[in-house]
Amino acid sequence: MVPAEKESGLHRIVVVGGGAAGLQLVTQLGDKLGRKGKAHVTLVDRARTHIWKPLLHEVAAGSLDIGHHAVDYLHHAHQHHFRYRIGQMIGLDRATRTVQLAASHDAEGREVTPERTVPYDTLVMAVGSTTNDFGTPGVAEHAIALDTQAQAVRFHQRLVNAMLRAHTQTGPVRPGQLHVTVIGAGATGTELAAELHRTLRHVVGTGLDRIDPDKDLKITLVEAADRILPAVPHRLSAEVMALLTKIGVEVRVRARVTEVRADGVALADGAFIPSELVVWAAGVKAPPFLHDIGGLETTRTNQLVVTPTLQTTRDPDIFAIGDCAYLVEAGSDTPVPPRAQAAHQQATYLVKQIPAKMAGRPLTPFRYRDFGSLVSLGEYSTVGSLMGFIQGKNMFIAGLFARLMYRSLYKMHERALHGTVKTALDAAARALTRRTEPRVKLH
Ligand SMILES: Cc1cc2nc3c(=O)[nH]c(=O)nc-3n(C[C@H](O)[C@H](O)[C@H](O)COP(=O)(O)OP(=O)(O)OC[C@H]3O[C@@H](n4cnc5c(N)ncnc54)[C@H](O)[C@@H]3O)c2cc1C
Repeated sequence: MVPAEKESGLHRIVVVGGGAAGLQLVTQLGDKLGRKGKAHVTLVDRARTHIWKPLLHEVAAGSLDIGHHAVDYLHHAHQHHFRYRIGQMIGLDRATRTVQLAASHDAEGREVTPERTVPYDTLVMAVGSTTNDFGTPGVAEHAIALDTQAQAVRFHQRLVNAMLRAHTQTGPVRPGQLHVTVIGAGATGTELAAELHRTLRHVVGTGLDRIDPDKDLKITLVEAADRILPAVPHRLSAEVMALLTKIGVEVRVRARVTEVRADGVALADGAFIPSELVVWAAGVKAPPFLHDIGGLETTRTNQLVVTPTLQTTRDPDIFAIGDCAYLVEAGSDTPVPPRAQAAHQQATYLVKQIPAKMAGRPLTPFRYRDFGSLVSLGEYSTVGSLMGFIQGKNMFIAGLFARLMYRSLYKMHERALHGTVKTALDAAARALTRRTEPRVKLH
C-alpha cells in the first residue's frame, strides 16, 4: 500500500463524496481557506465527474444530455483551490486519522490509482445514499436503480435499444415488450414515469413507425402505500395522480412487489406486470460500507448519526452531511429528509462552521428549513406546495411559477459551484444548443 500523503502542517479538511452537499462544500471552502493558504481542502470521490443527482431521471429518459451538465472534478478543483483524489472510500482508521481508498481501474482493468490512504484533521462524510431494495428477490438482477450517472445512461441505452429492436423485428410487438414499470412513487419514480411517457412517444415519432404509441407503449407506476407521493401533502399527491392518469400512465397503489423477474414484476395480490424494463425507486439507504465504520454510531440503514452541529456522535472531528447523515432536530420526531435542499443547507452551514471549529470557537446548531415539495412532470406540468409562505400556511402552486421554483434549486447548486456569471452563461449556452440538437437523446 502507498503511504499516506505528506502534508505541510496546515489543517487538513477532507470531504468524501462530491455530490449535492460535498461538491458545494469543497468549492466554497477551497475559495475561502484553500485560496488563502489557510487549510488544505481535499475532495475524495469514486467518480471523475459530478452530475446533480435530481437530474438523473431526465438523463434516464433521454431529455437531458449529461455532457452539458457534468462538472469535471479535476478541473473544478484546480479552479477552486482544493485537491481532488479519485478513489472509492472503503475504510476509516480513527486512530491514525486516515481514510482508506480502494485502487481504481480503467475499463480494461488496468490499475489507474493504487490502494492508498488520505490523512485528515477534519473529515466530512458526504457519500449520499443508494437504493434500498429491502431484500426483494430479483431486484439486483433485473431492475435498474438511478443512483449513478452510469445507471441512468445504461437505462436510457436499454430503452432506445428496446425501441429499435421492436421496430426492426419481423413479428408484431409482443405484450410487455415496450412496457416500463417504475417501482416506488416517491418524487424520483413519479417524475421518471411522466418524463418517460413523453420521451418514448418522441422517440417513436422520429420514424419508428412500426411501433404504435397508444397500443405498444406503456408505463406503469407501482406504489405500496395507499397514494402516490406519500411524503407530500394530500392535495399535491391527488393533483399529480390526476395528471398521470390523464396522460395515460397506469398507477397502481397499495401494490406490494414480491419479486422482479426477467420478464416483469410480480405483486403480492398475485398480479404480474409484464415489463421489458424495470426501475427500482422505492426507498434509499446509506451505502453499506458505512455500517459501524471506524466504530461510529450508525442507524439500521447505515446513516451516520450526528449531533445538532452535524458532528458524528462519537467523534467531533468527523462530520456527516446530506443523505448519509441522520439528524433528528430538537422538537421534531422525524429525521431531516434525504433531499437536495437539506444537502444544500448543510453544506452552506459547514462552510461557516468548519473555520469556526479550526479557530476553536463554539459551533452553533444547524436548523433545517423545509421550503416545501415540488414535483416536475416534465413538459406536462410542475406542481408543488411551498411551506409557510402566507401567514405560516402552505401554498399550492402549479404551472410556470412552480417550474421556475423547481429549477431554482438546481440554479442555487450551480451558483454555489460556479458563481452567478458562469451559471447564466451556461444557461444561455444550453438554451442555444437546445435549438440545434434533438429534444430527446436518441443513442
Ligand atoms: C432521480 C432523482 C431525483 C431526485 N429529485 C429530487 C428533488 O426533486 N428534490 C430534492 O430535494 N431531492 C431530490 N433527489 C434526492 C437528492 O438527489 C439527494 O438528496 C441529494 O443528491 C443528496 O446529496 P448528497 O450530497 O448527500 O449525495 P449525492 O448527491 O448522491 O452525492 C454523493 C457522492 O458521493 C460519492 N460516493 C459515494 N460513495 C463513495 C465512496 N465510497 N467513496 C467515494 N465517493 C463516494 C458519489 O460518487 C457522489 O458523488 C432526487 C434523487 C434522485 C436519484
